[in-house]
Amino acid sequence: EGLSTVIIGRPNVGKSSLLNALLKEKRAIVTDIPGTTRDIIEEIINVGGIPLRIIDTAGIRETEDVVEKMGVERSREFFAKADLVLFVLDAYTGITKEDIEIANMLRDKKAIVLINKIDLDEGRIDPAELRKLVGDKPYLKISATEEIGLEELENKILEMV
Ligand code: GDP
Ligand code: MG
Repeated sequence: EGLSTVIIGRPNVGKSSLLNALLKEKRAIVTDIPGTTRDIIEEIINVGGIPLRIIDTAGIRETEDVVEKMGVERSREFFAKADLVLFVLDAYTGITKEDIEIANMLRDKKAIVLINKIDLDEGRIDPAELRKLVGDKPYLKISATEEIGLEELENKILEMV
């Protein structure tokens, strides 16, 4: 029940912060330590009267940590089954090699690209660079912690599911 909306991205881009912001609750642990989220976290959010399953995942990266590795594997499984993907980027760090690897998995998926941490910097990801990364997938600038762009995001989700 509920279409599954899966939040993916490399570690530290703000996936768990986004889950919390959409839930309006401090559900997931948020730190600046990469690899904080290990297991997936699944909650129901109500968007415009429609219940959506929202799933926070471990940041996708190469890791030697056994538990984190299992988390990354689960992230990939949930990603594969997702009805809609929220692909989170970090406006402050810009696009990295890890982002490019994740973007390559996105091709045949319904996805919204989120440029998070827009409160810190909006200059490091330019539209041309983004188009190269994600083609014509829609994108929004947001801040999960400062709650910028979340209403637009909810509207976009409704448009897409
Ligand atoms: P995750 O690893 O992708 O789940 O990232 P987290 O949600 O744990 O956040 C990683 C770090 O980025 C934490 O220190 C957050 O407080 C910070 N962060 C997340 N979203 C934002 C944002 O919109 N703006 C700013 N300034 N910091 C953010
Ligand atoms: Mg997390």
